[in-house]
This record gives sequence, structure tokens and C-alpha cells, in this order.
Amino acid sequence: MPWDVLSDEQRELRDLVRQLARERIAPRAAEIDASHDFPWDVVELFRENDIFGLFFAEEYGGLGTGTLLSLIAIEEVAKVCATSALILAVQELGSLGLKLTGNDEQKERYLPRLASGEWLPAYALTESGSGSDSAAMRTTARREGDEYVLDGSKRFITNAGVANLYTVFAKTRPESRHRGISAFLVEADTPGFALARLEPKMGIAGSTTGELTFDGVRVPAENLLGDEDDGFRIAMRILDRSRPGVAAQALGIAQGATDYALEYAKTRETMGQAIVHHQLIQAKLADMETECEAARGLLYRFGRMVDEGADDVELTKASAMAKLKCGDVAMAVTTEAVQILGGYGYIKEYPVERFMRDAKITQIYEGTQEIQRLVIAREMLKESRAFLLASV
Ligand SMILES: Cc1cc2nc3c(=O)[nH]c(=O)nc-3n(C[C@H](O)[C@H](O)[C@H](O)COP(=O)(O)OP(=O)(O)OC[C@H]3O[C@@H](n4cnc5c(N)ncnc54)[C@H](O)[C@@H]3O)c2cc1C
Repeated sequence: MPWDVLSDEQRELRDLVRQLARERIAPRAAEIDASHDFPWDVVELFRENDIFGLFFAEEYGGLGTGTLLSLIAIEEVAKVCATSALILAVQELGSLGLKLTGNDEQKERYLPRLASGEWLPAYALTESGSGSDSAAMRTTARREGDEYVLDGSKRFITNAGVANLYTVFAKTRPESRHRGISAFLVEADTPGFALARLEPKMGIAGSTTGELTFDGVRVPAENLLGDEDDGFRIAMRILDRSRPGVAAQALGIAQGATDYALEYAKTRETMGQAIVHHQLIQAKLADMETECEAARGLLYRFGRMVDEGADDVELTKASAMAKLKCGDVAMAVTTEAVQILGGYGYIKEYPVERFMRDAKITQIYEGTQEIQRLVIAREMLKESRAFLLASV
């Protein structure tokens, strides 16, 4: 990395993750992609080396090393295996509701198990009829005494079937949109809660993506996260902080593809010389590397903002920009990597076709690229209004 802002301790941890990724995860990546099996051995590797701890505060058994380093860890793993990197990103996504809005009792009950990786979490917002328009969700939660009763279903949920704890969003006021949603912590073994099916996918093949059903699921009232009817705001606050995890995954995929394409170009010869000496190939490599570095600038800026205590309002635009840039860079760069390898880029013997398939999801989940652009434009309008008001 040409521009290194890390402390010695952070650099040591980054190097540990880099080494684990190169030596232990990279040799498994093609197999994980081909088998579509969830890589429990990688989860065990993360547990043994306290990698999940990077995402949690010391008081709950985490390492307390901050957001920037956690993003770098996801990036390092994604350079070799996007599925394995997603396990880390979702440890954060599925825990953020608790971290941001959980009460002390909820945090003490669950965060230590998530920090050690003993438990895996999931974040269940999307439904078959509501993705970008999440306020159109139809799953309901009605209060009965000391419990809420959940009915409905969720679709496209990462870690479905492997998670122990789900942050689930449901309508407590079905007649309302944004203002009628609440967030609940649902344990996997709660009666009436089931995995209906898993989706076969284009990429991130070892990650589970599933449909969940809720049939009269009784959740104790103490598992309500934050206030009743405040769930939409909680869902958006979580996404503001989790999207950079997807950005880190995207950047890792892009850098992994760039590094591989460079090495390949040094060894493949045409017209009497290695293709890396053809200027058109050099131009591609230069653009790929530059795009990765530009994307990294936005991503690490977000990490530093969180570590330096930026508030929610400041994070929204920075998070959307990092996700937008890194996702688009991942797609463009991996497509060029396939091009540099020519026919070999298109076959499964080489990893770049996997990188290209894995890159696509980073433009879709945790808010599509179109939604990121809407968020950025909305924040720009707010800023310009504030500027106008301040100047009159
Ligand atoms: C592999 C995978 C894993 C996922 N993991 C999770 C998870 O863990 N938890 C979870 O809750 N969800 C998850 N999702 C769901 C994901 O976040 C949604 O698929 C995504 O937000 C898009 O929603 P949608 O599929 O309903 O598309 P739609 O909302 O139907 O969008 C279709 C198209 O229309 C565009 N569009 C929609 N509205 C607008 C607008 N207002 N202006 C301009 N364009 C618009 C979109 O950008 C998109 O191009 C996952 C999805 C996949 C595929």
C-alpha cells in the first residue's frame, strides 16, 4: 500500500490477516466457489485468530482497534476470496443494530458471543416485494403481553441458515410506511422461525442467501431493539455504517484482480514479448491500479471519520460514496482483468472470472448503486440548503 496511515499495532494486525488470507484462504477459494458450501473452516480460522474481534469493542471481548482496520481486514480477505470476506462484513452488519441501539442487557447477552465468532448474525430487511423500497415490507409484529408475534417472510438474507441471531425488521403499524417499522433480535431456534430455501447464485457462491419465514414467531418484548416504530431509522443507521464493509469487499476483489492480471501479463508472451510490455496492456493496468487507489481513498476516509468520532449525519454521504465508487471500480476492474488474460480469463482454471462474478453483487446489495446516487444527491441538496440558509 503506497499510503500507509496505520499505527504499528494496526499494521501488525493487517499483516496477520494478509498472511492468513494468502496462506490459508486463497488455496480454498476456488473450491468454495465450485462447491457452493459455506466455509465453516474459514469461520474457525477467524475464530482461532480473533479476527471477528476486530469488529468489536474491548468491553465485549473485541480488540477495540477501530473501523479503519476492520475495513482493511475485509479488503485483505476479499483480495483472495469474496465469500470469506463477506463473513466478516456480515459479522458487522448483523451486529450493528445491537451496537448502535441495544440496551446494556442486550449487549451483554449477545455481543461477547458475536465478538468471539461463536455466534454468527444476520440482518433481515429485504422481502420479495420490498428491496430498495424497504418501507413497503409486509412482515408484521403485533404486541401480545410481554411478547411480539412475528408473521411474514424475508428474502435474500445473507447467512440465512448459518446465523444464530437475526436482526429482523417488521411492521408494528402495518398501515404506516417508514414510521411503522420496528427492529427485533430473533434467535435462530425460536419456534415458528424457519429457513424456507437457499438461492443458487452468480457469485459469492459459498455465502448462504436465503428466504426466512415467520409463522407466529413469539419474540420476548426485551428483544425489541431501540424504540417501537423506530425500526426504519435503525435500519438506515445500520446501512450507513455497514455499506463500507461492502465497499471494502469490492475494493479487495478489484485489487486482487489487478494484482493477478499484472503477474499474468509478466509471463504471457505474444508477438515476441511479454504482454505487459504492450502499451495497451500497460494502460489497462495503470487505469486499474489508479481506480483502486482512488476508491481506497474514499473507503479509508470513511474509516478514519468513524474512528475520529464523526456523527451519523456526516457519515451518510461518505458511506454512500465509498460504496458507489468501490462497487463500480470492482466491476470495471475485474472485467478488464478478464480481458488481460484473454481466453484464459474466461475459464475457471484462473481466478479472474470468479472475481468478475463476485464483483457484481457489490453493485446490488446493501443498497444498489442507483440508491447510493440518490442518497448522495439528497445529502448534497441538504448541504446546499444549509449553506443558503447560513448565508442569508
Ligand atoms: C446475494 C444477496 C445477498 C443479500 N443480502 C441481504 C441481507 O443480508 N439482508 C437484506 O436485508 N437484504 C439482502 N439482500 C437484498 C438486497 O439488498 C436487495 O436485493 C437490493 O437492495 C435491491 O432490492 P431488490 O432486489 O428488491 O431490487 P429493486 O428494489 O426491485 O430494484 C430493481 C432495480 O430498480 C432500481 N431502483 C429501485 N428503486 C429506484 C429508484 N427510486 N430510483 C432509481 N432506481 C431505482 C434498482 O437500483 C435496481 O436496479 C441481498 C441480495 C442478494 C442478491
